[in-house]
Amino acid sequence: MADRFFPNEMPPFVAETADQIPLTDSLTALLSLPYQTLSAKFQESAYHLKQSVLRETWGSRGKRVKDYTLYTGALGTAYLLFKAYQVTKDGNDLNLCSEIVEACYSASADSGRVTFLCGRAGVCALGVVVAKHTGDERLLDYYLRQFKEIVIPRDSPYELLYGRTGYLWACSFLNKHIGNNTIPTTHMRSVVDEVISAGRQLGHKGRCPLMYEWHGKKYWGAAHGLAGIMNVLMDMELKPDEVEEIKGTLRYMINNRFPSGNYPSSEGSENDRLVHWCHGAPGVTLTLVKAAEVFGDKEFLQAAVDSGEVVWKRGLLKRVGMCHGISGNTYVFLSLYRLTGNEKYLYRAKAFACFLLDRAHKLISEGKMHGGDRPHSLFEGLGGMAYTFLDMVDPQMAKFPGYEL
Ligand SMILES: [Zn+2]
Repeated sequence: MADRFFPNEMPPFVAETADQIPLTDSLTALLSLPYQTLSAKFQESAYHLKQSVLRETWGSRGKRVKDYTLYTGALGTAYLLFKAYQVTKDGNDLNLCSEIVEACYSASADSGRVTFLCGRAGVCALGVVVAKHTGDERLLDYYLRQFKEIVIPRDSPYELLYGRTGYLWACSFLNKHIGNNTIPTTHMRSVVDEVISAGRQLGHKGRCPLMYEWHGKKYWGAAHGLAGIMNVLMDMELKPDEVEEIKGTLRYMINNRFPSGNYPSSEGSENDRLVHWCHGAPGVTLTLVKAAEVFGDKEFLQAAVDSGEVVWKRGLLKRVGMCHGISGNTYVFLSLYRLTGNEKYLYRAKAFACFLLDRAHKLISEGKMHGGDRPHSLFEGLGGMAYTFLDMVDPQMAKFPGYEL
């Protein structure tokens, strides 16, 4: 188990100070910097990372798109550029983002995938939002029409990465950035009905009200399972019985978590191994934070705090990306900070991000950390690290891409 993550030997807290700290290691020195100074370092590193991501995923490929997805492909680079634009207001980033979205749009023309992270809905939705920022109303209308023409295949699953809730997340993204009812509630409601009714068929009243299956397994995590599905449903307009079913499903998960506080990757699994956004405590924590925000129940806040502890202990993974890396796990603390205002969580987010800033390149080059199967992508590689650093500039506003709205 220990080989999946580095033991977390970072100090429980380091106070910020403008004074030089003598005789200390480089990580502690970073953690003791005044936030503004550290934030400038994150931004500088993000700039260099962004340039190398751009070179590797766009420039050196002759601006041709093979994998168009936000998860591992070119749309992830576009999303990173959009984030950079939001932080620096550099119009070049926005224009380049727009160019890449256009290439992804062509590359996804025949794709049957409909989600934000891995499908055409992500391309069209980001196209709409970027066109709004460039002030191109004709293009905005065009992408929006294309979004509305997306048809969810009848055999679509329900999970976030490839299924119906991944499509619904794209709808919520549009409504947030363009305005309420850009995608009408009635349209989203018909998809929610399908998701709820499928969940009831596999669920058990009184035990776990909603349950889903993907590739024969009843997953619990954010990418393919309950945490991801509940997270998206909480952004929908819900009927009172649906609210109770979602709460009941989350309670079932909390009551059946591992003794360590981590969450199984699927129903009945006794393998307490993964502490990832995709499987395990990190993705579940973000969902519980959302539940605490939406429902206001103390039990969800407490459960989120509990699973945050698991991520602090076992979340310093030997990978850098969003999905199953330190970047993604940093958002656990950012979301707990947003929810509670407790400086402890800002420190923990800083500690994870500083660990990457201080050591990731060295550890990867020494073979002690995995560079990622798609080493420059947003969800598996350095794109995610750049994105996290940009979010560290304004941590109150940080949101896990494609998951937190
Ligand atoms: Zn993963």
